[in-house]
Amino acid sequence: MPELPEVEVILRGLAPRLQNRRILAVAVGEKRLRQESSPGEFGRWLPGRNILELERRGKYLLFHLEGKVILLLHLGMTGRLLLQPTPSPALPHAHLLLQLEGGLQLVFQDVRRFGQALVFPPGVAPAPLSQVGREPFSRQVTPQWLSQEARARSRAVKNFLMDGRVLAGIGNIYANEILFAARLHPATPAGDLSVEDWTRVLKETRRILKAAIAKGGTTVSDYLNSQGETGLFQLELLVYGREGEPCKTCGQPLVRMAQGGRSTFFCPRCQKEK
Ligand SMILES: [Zn+2]
Repeated sequence: MPELPEVEVILRGLAPRLQNRRILAVAVGEKRLRQESSPGEFGRWLPGRNILELERRGKYLLFHLEGKVILLLHLGMTGRLLLQPTPSPALPHAHLLLQLEGGLQLVFQDVRRFGQALVFPPGVAPAPLSQVGREPFSRQVTPQWLSQEARARSRAVKNFLMDGRVLAGIGNIYANEILFAARLHPATPAGDLSVEDWTRVLKETRRILKAAIAKGGTTVSDYLNSQGETGLFQLELLVYGREGEPCKTCGQPLVRMAQGGRSTFFCPRCQKEK
């Protein structure tokens, strides 16, 4: 599932190719995404408009179009964006196809259909963004702020990190990796962390997200041409998916447990409970 770095990589890959390119026509697939504007709305607001700017908020991609229209996409579990020359053979599971000037088309493909594609007319703020918390790289995110937010919520630090209403864009994989790097047990109540702990968590969060973005950047051209792969699988994961394998720091077998319905992987020696 794409997290912040994957969406950022997609944004950086697409932005230079899409900015100042006009949408000529739009086609919508037969099956609907979990959240999707009607074909009539797409038809009314998209064709004829220039794409002015792309922006990422959390795991959302925003296309700012001419006339203050916003197209908002979320890749859900299995969504992909493919930029192809026109004409190209039809893709299975294509939900939204934007035909662009200059002989290109952007296809939103989503096998499991948990993605979102919504268009917002001028003056209408995209409602899903009201649930998106602060960006991890924002200056407004400080160890003190995290500590305050955590005290207001009695829950495990891992679930706290994955709460997109607090910090935007961190999913299960990176939450596992961040807590291993910060040497914190994932079940520690978030409210028990000191400002020093949060300083370490924030530093590791930014370092890991940055590294993932940098890795992903190397696969952007593949991604844009055909395969839809992002950098996710190129990042070296130290704990995620490694149950029973030795910890790369101390050699102890890594452990898996369930937390909030998701798998948590950690080292019982390096990540002691407080
Ligand atoms: Zn260890």
